[in-house]
Amino acid sequence: MVTWVYDFAEGSKEQNDLLGGKGANLAEMTNIGLPVPPGFTISTDACRAYLEEGSAPPGLADEISEHLRSLEDAMGRRLGDPDDPLLVSVRSGAKNSMPGMMDTVLNVGLNDASVEALARQSGDERLATDSYRRLLQMYGSTVLGLEARMFDEAMDELKRSRDVKDDLGLTSDDLRHLVTSYQEVIRSETGKPFPQDPREQLDRAVQAVFDSWNTPRAVLYRRQERIAEDLGTAVNIQAMVFGNLGATSGSGVCFTRDPATGSQGVYGDYLANAQGEDVVAGIRNTVALTDLERLDPTSHAELLAVMERLELHYLDMCDIEFTIERGRLWMLQTRVGKRTPAAAFRIAMDFVDEGLIDMDEALRRVTGHQLAQLMFPGFDPSAERTVVARGMSASPGAAVGKAVFDSDTAVAWAERGEDVILVRKETTPDDLRGMVVARGILTSRGGKTSHAAVVARGMGRSCVCGTESLDVDIAAKQFTIRGGPTVHEGDVISIDGGTGEVFLGKIPVVDSSVVRFFEGDPGDDVLVNAVSRVVEHADDTRRLAVRANADTPDDAARARRYGAAGIGLCRTEHMFLGERRALVEELVVASDVDEQAAALQQLLPLQREDFLGIFEAMDGLPVTIRLIDPPLHEFLPDFTELSVTVALEDERGATSSRHHRLLAALTRLHEQNPMLGLRGVRLGIVIPGLFTMQARAILEAAAEWVAGGGSAFPEIMVPLVASTEEFAIVRAELEKVGREVQEERGVQIPHLVGTMIELPRAAITAGQIAESADFFSFGTNDLTQMTWGFSRDDVEAAFFPTYLDHGIFPVSPFESLDIEGVGSLVRTAAAAGREVNPGLHLGVCGEHGGDPASIHFFDAVGLDYVSCSPFRVPVARLEAARAALMQ
Ligand code: ADP
Ligand code: MG
Ligand code: MG
Repeated sequence: MVTWVYDFAEGSKEQNDLLGGKGANLAEMTNIGLPVPPGFTISTDACRAYLEEGSAPPGLADEISEHLRSLEDAMGRRLGDPDDPLLVSVRSGAKNSMPGMMDTVLNVGLNDASVEALARQSGDERLATDSYRRLLQMYGSTVLGLEARMFDEAMDELKRSRDVKDDLGLTSDDLRHLVTSYQEVIRSETGKPFPQDPREQLDRAVQAVFDSWNTPRAVLYRRQERIAEDLGTAVNIQAMVFGNLGATSGSGVCFTRDPATGSQGVYGDYLANAQGEDVVAGIRNTVALTDLERLDPTSHAELLAVMERLELHYLDMCDIEFTIERGRLWMLQTRVGKRTPAAAFRIAMDFVDEGLIDMDEALRRVTGHQLAQLMFPGFDPSAERTVVARGMSASPGAAVGKAVFDSDTAVAWAERGEDVILVRKETTPDDLRGMVVARGILTSRGGKTSHAAVVARGMGRSCVCGTESLDVDIAAKQFTIRGGPTVHEGDVISIDGGTGEVFLGKIPVVDSSVVRFFEGDPGDDVLVNAVSRVVEHADDTRRLAVRANADTPDDAARARRYGAAGIGLCRTEHMFLGERRALVEELVVASDVDEQAAALQQLLPLQREDFLGIFEAMDGLPVTIRLIDPPLHEFLPDFTELSVTVALEDERGATSSRHHRLLAALTRLHEQNPMLGLRGVRLGIVIPGLFTMQARAILEAAAEWVAGGGSAFPEIMVPLVASTEEFAIVRAELEKVGREVQEERGVQIPHLVGTMIELPRAAITAGQIAESADFFSFGTNDLTQMTWGFSRDDVEAAFFPTYLDHGIFPVSPFESLDIEGVGSLVRTAAAAGREVNPGLHLGVCGEHGGDPASIHFFDAVGLDYVSCSPFRVPVARLEAARAALMQ
């Protein structure tokens, strides 16, 4: 026999799955003896059964009756009793709090008869009528699905005709009038009168909560937040207490610490003579919690004691909803409170200092994602600002610029040096040009998987999307904020992609104090202090090493400042750009091996200098250098342009033989599909001397640095290897160069030769490749492209948003590793490699090395290090430690 319903006294805070967050915490508060109005919870099991069958599961109605009876006994009143009615609230509460679902119906049990009884009993006729009109309003809009506007209009009209500012100015007679209007709205809109039977009210409210699990907004929210579809919601039925019983009553919300900064001291809002939802609805101005001390010192003191009790019990900052009924405090909700990233670090460290949690627990309570948010530039916290609209935080960062409404304008204005923010209803691939040049992107439609969001995150642009209160008119080049001003093309706006906030005008942007800290300015900010202590503990806790991807001495030095233990990927392509392009041209037009060798000979000293700078910056730490990877035509002139030049030269009879030879070489090198063409190790095999020149430059630079008293640990990495034969050929040549250089220079240079694993074939045959490789570095960008058959540059903007909407993957596999597919290749290759070569060093380079979820996976499969961009190094240090703790 399944149980569907649990009394508050039966549950505990661990039962989120069964009772939902609200129900589990109401039970917990009941059981630790806090003043909670009694009630019971209909479980998520019941919701799931209802949603599967389309009707209430057998036994549910009886169980509700049973629990209702004990509630009535406990309260000494009956639901809907015409002389002494019990009133209840019907409150939804899923495991995760979820906007978009139905929330609450208060005062269930009132009808035309019991409202009179309530008036008599409470001695407050106004309270009774006010409660009834609230029931009609909530029932009408949430259970019957009528537009809230219809009730609001009736209320506004009444206030106007009575010439009062807020609802407190309305008399009991006015409210009676409103009850009649609301009942009329319900009758005329649904064709049926408001149900007078209290049990019918209750049952229909419960069903409405169940049904609201599947509203489109709730479904969309779950997809975006990656909340499972099949959890269902619980429903709480609770005896009503009244915050609207005059001046000694009221309702409030509060936090046990400031959720914005994390600073100590309670924080909250209170509204006298009001039922709960008025506090957040903003219909009247609330007062600060400290004012409650003056209004009702006893309740205030009791509330503070409850807050302290809750913090000590939950060992975390709590968020609380309460009501005071005629001087008596009632707790209506608590949960571990949401907080900003800054508050998360600060609160975690304060709890450590207060002796409530240890450093490991502090690490579990902050995330790499939060740290990353703190490293973006933000708006100056001391600057004046008013939020005019709020959308979804799609891609972090603060951005300021002139509003523009199309890509052409964005590009033109950006070219003349202006900062612009591209505003669209939603973006399409046609908007890419504008997005590239914009400081930020603002849209009125689409969620965190919309085109705008996906592309902005990929480009590192700040983005606020789905800002529903914006009415964007592209043709008129303007947007209107609902109930507010209109912004025209050229007006300056500011957006915060980390919070989803939109502001008018320019708000000054400041560097992150956390970044300043990593850059060497210790500062004395509490936040910086908290972050540095957490990251330091992370370093003591983690197993994975963290390296950085850095191609230049400057990047390498930054990586070191951010705590990298070496370079995991130094690309060498940039060393062939600029004036060195001419030498690449020489190389490809060379008619024989001697000419090729001559060109390479000229590149050698230049490359040596490049590497010397990097060894200097990374003195004493390993540096993994990838031999040249891209197809050579990337370094050559554009084929079409050169064809035109040659044609014109021929016409004038002024033919340049070099141009002709170059054009012939370009024709020879032309590829339909360069990503799958002559690149990586294939270049090393086809162009003799290219890889050995690079290896010589690396080893000579290392020798020079060592001779000067430094230490260098080069790791030479061969890209795009597919087979052990390819690697064997290259490795033999590199070893020969190694012997030569060490002999010539008379120094030992400890170095490794290894390979990238970025092709499925390499992953599948990793056991063979590992026999002769010193290390593997998983190139997860290419491995993702090659495994899915996606060309990243083409697919992200073109169809990823549609794929994400269909739930084909929850997040772009380029952002977070596809653990099932690509991850399986990594796991098997690592295991096969280690089996034949237990000393094989394993790392990962590519975007995923800085992504929290991917880092947890790399830790679990036993890699030695991750390598990511210097900026992400602190995030990776933190997440590597969290991964170790959560194993
Ligand atoms: P939400 O999930 O939107 O916060 P709640 O279920 O917490 O919805 O209800 C909103 C508010 O309604 C509460 O903060 C509280 O003030 C009021 N409320 C809910 N249940 C009761 C009750 N039994 N007595 C008095 N007020 C209640
Ligand atoms: Mg609530
Ligand atoms: Mg690659």
